Order: sequence, then structure tokens, then C-alpha cells
Amino acid sequence: MAKVMLVTGGSRGIGAATARLAAREGWDVVVNYNSNSRAADAVVADVEAAGQRAVAIQADSGKPNDVIRLFAEADAAFGRLDAFVNNAGIVNPIGRLDSRDPADLERLVAVNLTGAILGCAEAVRRMSTSHGGQGGSIVNVSSVASRLGGPGSYVDYAASKGGLDSLTVGLAQEVAGEGIRVNAVRPGIINTDIHDDLGDEPGRVERLGKTVPAGRHGTADEVAETIVWLCSDAASYVSMSLMEVSGAR
Ligand code: NAP
Repeated sequence: MAKVMLVTGGSRGIGAATARLAAREGWDVVVNYNSNSRAADAVVADVEAAGQRAVAIQADSGKPNDVIRLFAEADAAFGRLDAFVNNAGIVNPIGRLDSRDPADLERLVAVNLTGAILGCAEAVRRMSTSHGGQGGSIVNVSSVASRLGGPGSYVDYAASKGGLDSLTVGLAQEVAGEGIRVNAVRPGIINTDIHDDLGDEPGRVERLGKTVPAGRHGTADEVAETIVWLCSDAASYVSMSLMEVSGAR
């Protein structure tokens, strides 16, 4: 039976690229999304076209009961879990921290961090050998923002990603003896829709891409390659890594 990967925010961008690549590498995939069911259905169709099984499950990472239901519905669909890709994430429009609406800050931390922590707990309950599981892999999709800090643009987002890095470092050690590897991927400037949500001028990705030492922005497929590799047995001794996929940004 194929191994099962659950990807939060698997309907668009980096998550969708991860789901599609995982299917080509023989994984069955749970495609989580929040609002865009059509995009999720398209990813499910692509996974099935690659010969694997897939299910789309709506759940808002920012709502604890949704995260718990997501894992329960994934259990019902496939009955096993081998990899959890904690990818769902949002940004607030570009701005200083002191310009933020408290409700927007609360929502960002709920989706990017609290939902991710809860998701890791649910994944450990299923994959840890101490809970009767078979082991597995967790990949937290962080950002180079956790290291750069995002001054003037998105300090709130950077802080949420810093939290993901700490989650990775602590949890990796906590469950290393229980068959679970925990890593983070830190993308740089990647060409996805998330940049539209920053409310910047059009052409942001191309403009910033030129400032990257590698001379260009990255693609969702390039990030997906690292995520799927980290989930694979080829990365069997890789844990607690914070892997930069950033063209040296
Ligand atoms: P994206 O293109 O905007 O896609 C976001 C995905 O997350 C969509 O599938 C979306 O589903 C889902 N999502 C959003 N809010 C959600 C919620 N509350 N609950 C569940 N799913 C939710 O973003 P992306 O660029 O691929 O980003 C993916 C991850 O990479 C994020 O964690 C982001 O912070 C990180 N990252 C991105 C970049 C970059 O340059 N693109 C750089 C560094 C880190 P719906 O459409 O249904 O809402």
C-alpha cells in the first residue's frame, strides 16, 4: 500500500507542487485547502492521473477544531499517515507592525503557528512508535523571513516563521527516538499567489528576484523537490534541519 502524505494548503502554490510531485514519486495525498475547492479538486485530479489516490479536505488551519477534523477525515480516507507537510500560511499586507489591526495579527498567528503546532501534535499521535505508529516525517514550511525579520514589511509573519523553526528544533529532538524526523524548509522569493496578498506593486516577484544572489526568484517546483525529498527514505538520517531553498538570499 502506498505511503500517505498530508499537505496543508495543498491546493495552490508550494503545497500544490508538493502534492503533484509526491504523487509522481508514489505517495497517496491528502490535499487540504481552506476556501478554493476548485483548485484543490484540480490537484486531486492530477494526483489521480499520476496513478495515486487523493482526497481534498476543507479545513481552516486557523481553527483548532478544523485541524483535528482534518486528521480524522484523513484517517477515514486512508487509514495511515506517513508524512505531514505543514505548509498552509498567510501574510498580512506589507506594513509596519505598529500599523497592524490586532485581529489580523491574531489570525496570522492562528493560521501560521497555532495551526501548525496543533497539526504536528496530531501527526505525532499517529506516526510515533510510542503511540503504535510506524514513524514518519514532518516538514514545516517556514521562510527565510524567520532569519531576515522582515523589517518594515512583515515582522509579524517573520515572527510566526521563527516560531515554526523553534517548533522544528524542539520537536525533532522530542520524537527522534520514536521514528519521526522533523525538518523545516525555508523558501526565499518563490513565484506563487501569496505575493498578491502583500498588496505590493505588480511585478514584485520579478523585481525582488533580481536582488537574490542567484539572480532570480525560485519556483514552487524547486521547493517541492526539497520537501518531498525530506519526506522520503533517501533523507533517513536528516532531522532538525532548517533547509534554505532561497538562491542564497
Ligand atoms: P499560496 O500560493 O498563497 O497558497 C497558499 C495555500 O495555503 C493555498 O492552498 C491556500 O488554500 C492554503 N491556505 C491559506 N490559508 C489557509 C488556512 N487558513 N487553512 C488551510 N489552508 C490555507 O502560498 P505559497 O506561496 O504556496 O505559500 C506556502 C507556504 O510557503 C506558506 O507557509 C508561506 O508562508 C511559505 N513561503 C512562501 C514563500 C513565497 O515566496 N511564495 C516564501 C517563503 C515561505 P485556499 O486557496 O483554499 O485558501
